Amino acid sequence: MLLVVGLDGASYDLCEQWIEQGYLPNLARMKQEGMLLPLKSTIPSVSPVAWSTFMTGMNPGEHGVFGFFVPERHRAYEPPMCFRPVNSRDCRGERFWEKMNKAGLSTGIVGVPVTYPVQPLDGHMVAGLLAPGLSTPGATYPPGLGAEIIAKVGPYRLVPRGIYTPGREQVLMRELHSCLELRGRLAQYLLENYRCDVHVFVLYETDVVQHKMWRFMDSSHPRYNSSAGKKWGTAIRDIYTHADSIVGRLLRQLGQDDSIVVMSDHGGGPLHGIVHLNSWLRRRGYLVERGGWQRWLVGLNGKWGFVQGCARIAGLLGLLSGIRMRQETRRALASGFLGAKNIDWGRSTAYNLGFEGAIYTLGENHSAIAQEIAEALRCLRAPGSGQALVESVHTAQDLYRGRSVEYAPSLILQLAGGKYSTSQKMFAPQLVTTPTDSGTHTPTGILGVWGPGTAAMGARRNFDIQMIPDLLLDIVGIGGSQK
Ligand SMILES: [Zn+2]
Repeated sequence: MLLVVGLDGASYDLCEQWIEQGYLPNLARMKQEGMLLPLKSTIPSVSPVAWSTFMTGMNPGEHGVFGFFVPERHRAYEPPMCFRPVNSRDCRGERFWEKMNKAGLSTGIVGVPVTYPVQPLDGHMVAGLLAPGLSTPGATYPPGLGAEIIAKVGPYRLVPRGIYTPGREQVLMRELHSCLELRGRLAQYLLENYRCDVHVFVLYETDVVQHKMWRFMDSSHPRYNSSAGKKWGTAIRDIYTHADSIVGRLLRQLGQDDSIVVMSDHGGGPLHGIVHLNSWLRRRGYLVERGGWQRWLVGLNGKWGFVQGCARIAGLLGLLSGIRMRQETRRALASGFLGAKNIDWGRSTAYNLGFEGAIYTLGENHSAIAQEIAEALRCLRAPGSGQALVESVHTAQDLYRGRSVEYAPSLILQLAGGKYSTSQKMFAPQLVTTPTDSGTHTPTGILGVWGPGTAAMGARRNFDIQMIPDLLLDIVGIGGSQK
């Protein structure tokens, strides 16, 4: 049997440090008796893109997943009809478990992002991030598995519940530990009752805790505060230790011929600010809102926080539901991003989508516009430091190869020191604001292998996530010509 444990966002440098200090005894054992190496993520290093590469061994230009959201359109460089979360149908290319199934091996795939809606397979599947919920059709294969999990394992959830707000650290941490515990229990249950040749389990809490709790352990973070740091400074480490204990429980069940791979899709690091690229594009005339009553909102430009606050309170009181308002508009009010229907696409030539700095340009002149925007972006400075806010600007053609390249964002940005992310907001009061989150992604994750499968790594030491499917196929002995 081959067991693959994904620790979303687990960072190589944090693992090294905490292995050294004795907080991750099971990863330490893997390192000592097997191999533990850094693993290079995709560009951008965000979960949907990286996990799609993990499944297919393809670069984003080939599998076609470029971020959390998809602009729905008929042709590249056309205005989108709507924006929606990415799903498994957007990811093109054969998954490694399909190859394993063809070779006669059964596979159990649990918690991998962008697997919703799930496809039938020889084995079982439970969707991960970007699925609506465990009981939604398409969340599990076989379809009855969701109800069985609830009955036999407990209140398993695909992603942690609730929205974190500062001051509610305890609620968040309780939820994260409880989710992790349930993931460990589900792994146990499936290994006992639905044994396959290959099992994949992804634990997602390692990523969430870094986004929310980074500032408490990092004294160089602009929002660090020493008394809160004393209280919550070990929050991230505690989640890593918990995840490590789940790895340990699984390790102890392996037989002599079994192998385990522990990997992550990217690492974690500090987040210092949010860059409101749509706001910037709007001020420069690349993005134009549609007329109508939305103009009223535009008039409140500087007071956008106030408008959002009102919308949130009204939403909480259930008032918005009573007003005859289109779903799209209500969502836009909540997010600050005027949806695709509220943009004057006839006059717009560029927009930012997602958190990772992806700019789509439109029309016949899309490439000239992209170039013009790239030059202007290079002049932006981070507040305070005077450092370049946009460290580098890539075109899709620079980074990617394959049949989906023209559907990629025209520009993919790397923001100062990786410490900034971007927002959807059209009406931000400043170019850069301070977010609630204090952590974001870094490009270096981990790859650990233990057991006879370690031999499949050969002499290679520089792994990137695109090599994972081949490595897994090698470990189960169907590499080479059968790939
Ligand atoms: Zn991730």
